[in-house]
Amino acid sequence: MIWLPDYHMHTPLCRHATGEPIEYAARAVAVGLTEIGFTDHSPMARDDFDNWRMRADQLDEYVEKVRRAQREFPQLTIRLGLEVDYLPGHESWIRDLAARHSWDYFIGSVHYVSDSWDVDNPAKLSEWKSRNPFEVWSAYFDRLTMAAESGLFEIIGHADLPKKFGIYPKEDCTPIFRRFIDAAAKHDVAIELNTAGLRKDCREIYPSPALLQLAYEAGVKITFASDAHAAAEVGLNFTEALALARRIGYTHTCRFAGRKRDIVPLPS
Ligand code: ZN
Ligand code: FE
Ligand code: FE
Ligand code: ZN
Repeated sequence: MIWLPDYHMHTPLCRHATGEPIEYAARAVAVGLTEIGFTDHSPMARDDFDNWRMRADQLDEYVEKVRRAQREFPQLTIRLGLEVDYLPGHESWIRDLAARHSWDYFIGSVHYVSDSWDVDNPAKLSEWKSRNPFEVWSAYFDRLTMAAESGLFEIIGHADLPKKFGIYPKEDCTPIFRRFIDAAAKHDVAIELNTAGLRKDCREIYPSPALLQLAYEAGVKITFASDAHAAAEVGLNFTEALALARRIGYTHTCRFAGRKRDIVPLPS
């Protein structure tokens, strides 16, 4: 295993991940990582918004689970984060979440292209049949651009998530990619190399090499993410992610503590 912080992992509080933070931490140590960060799915202002996140009243319990892992694994640096859903109009709720604990970083993710359709939800796969893929990808990247511009996040999650099921537009996506990347560069938000894509139908790290190339050329920084929903997934496929980063030209990654960034060289 290569040394690289794994900055994206979940807990059972989101109702679709298995294993406690202490188990993820034990796995991280076993595979030779020295730094990880928990980023479970953020609660929404309304607990009945969907069924794949913690309730608002579980936020303290989440933080306590991460703090316990920090106490039990002093040899491992463990960051406290959240994977926050970005939806237009939710900004004040996100600021409210930010004020509740001393977070190390927030990942801003777009899963919802409308108030009711989370594009990566397998239960809603049939939605794709009645839509033009380019319209879906455009709506997604509009929101991702807004997330980058919001100033609410240090990192943008799985930047080309709509490819999850292998449904791609026929149109050239370069203009919508570029608009997002320009916003990320201007607002100095990092993007993650998320290896979960390798475990989905798309069989490719998020983002694609083409999108990552645009990010590199614009000076957008990167982090590394397994998006583990089970302890066995911690640090998974980081060899491939590092190779991709290096192939594109990246020489540095980021660390975050107290919502402040540190830029560090990639391992050789
Ligand atoms: Zn999840
Ligand atoms: Fe996500
Ligand atoms: Fe995630
Ligand atoms: Zn995720």
